[in-house]
Amino acid sequence: MKPAPRLVIDLDKIRHNARTLVERLSRRGISVTGVTKATLGSAKIAAAFLEAGVKRLGDSRIENIEAMHLAQVSASTTLIRSPMLSQVERVVRHADVSCNTEIEVIRKLSFEARKANRTHGVILMVELGDLREGIMPDDLMSYVQETTNLPNIVFKGIGTNLACRSGVSPDGKNMAILSELADSIEATLDLKVEIISGGNSANLEWALSGAEIGRINDLRLGEAILLGCETLHRQAIDGLHTDAITLCAEVIEAKVKPSMPLGTIAQNASGDVPPVADRGLVTQAILAVGQQDVDPSGLQAPDGMDVMGASSDHLILESERFELTVGTEVIFQLNYGALVRAMTSPFVAKVMEPALA
Ligand SMILES: *Cc1c(COP(=O)(O)O)cnc(C)c1O
Repeated sequence: MKPAPRLVIDLDKIRHNARTLVERLSRRGISVTGVTKATLGSAKIAAAFLEAGVKRLGDSRIENIEAMHLAQVSASTTLIRSPMLSQVERVVRHADVSCNTEIEVIRKLSFEARKANRTHGVILMVELGDLREGIMPDDLMSYVQETTNLPNIVFKGIGTNLACRSGVSPDGKNMAILSELADSIEATLDLKVEIISGGNSANLEWALSGAEIGRINDLRLGEAILLGCETLHRQAIDGLHTDAITLCAEVIEAKVKPSMPLGTIAQNASGDVPPVADRGLVTQAILAVGQQDVDPSGLQAPDGMDVMGASSDHLILESERFELTVGTEVIFQLNYGALVRAMTSPFVAKVMEPALA
C-alpha cells in the first residue's frame, strides 16, 4: 500500500519544465536561477533542476540551502530572502550569495565571512514598485559603494522582485529602470554588474514577449517550473506540464447525507459561519487530509468533484458522478500555497516518480 496523503512528484516532468524554460530564456540571453523554496530542500528536485540546465539554485530559507549543501548538491546557491541578522553566520557558511537590502546585514555578512575565511556574494535588491523588499533606486549607488568596499564581500549584481505583494507586473518600464541602474553603477564606479536579476515567474510573459530585454540576464523561477504556470494570471504555459506534482488523498467515509445542517448554526472549526443551503440529499465523501497537511482552498479536485469544506484533518468532497467508496484515492492539483504547505507537512508523504530517479 502506498502512503496517503502523498505528494506525487514526477521528476521527469519537472526536468522537462525546467529545460523548456531554460532553453526559451537562453535565446533571450537570460539564465535561470532555479528556486527550490517550495521543495523543502529536496536534493532530488534540485538535481532535476540542475540536469535541466538551471545555472544556480535559489531558496528563501537557509535551512533548505543547508539541507541541499549537506546532501552534496553541487551548485552555486543564493539565499533570495534578506538574511536575518541572527542567521548571518549560517548564511556565510552555506550560501554562496544572498539578496540584500540592509547595509547593517551586509556589514555583518562581511564580518562573519572574514571570520570564516570565506567570500560571500551580494545581490542588492531594488524597489521598483511592488513594495516588498528593495532599496529605493536613488539610494542604490551608496549601497553598492559600501558593499564593494567591505572585506570578504563580492558585489555580484542587482535584482528586483515584482508581483509578490502588490501584483505589480514586470514591463518595459520597470525593467528598463533596472537596466539603467546597472549601466549607471558601471559608469560611476568602474565595476562590472555581473547579475541583473529581473524577477520571478511573473516575468516570463515580459521576458518571452519579444520585448527589448536590456541588461536583464537572470530570472529566479520556482512556480513556473514546478507547476507549469505563469503567475500574473495563473495560466498554463504552453508546452509545460501542470501536473508535475499532485496530491493523492484517501476516502475514509462515503455516505449520502442531507446538504442542510441540522440545528442552530454558529462558528465552525475555522471560526467561520458557513453559508447553508438546502440542495436535498448529496453524495459526500470525507478524505483524510486537512488544513494541517495542505491549504484546502488551493486544491483543484478532478472534474465532476467539488471540495465543499475542510477542517484540520478532514476534507469534504461531493460528487454525483463518481462513486467515492472507502479506500478510494483522489488526485488533486495544487496551487503554490497548497504545495508549500503539503511539502512542509510531516503528515504528507513525498513519493518521487520515476521511483528509481
Ligand atoms: C519566491 C521568490 C522567487 C520565485 O518566485 P516564483 O513565483 O516561484 O517563480 C523569486 N524571487 C524571490 C525574491 C522570491 O521570494
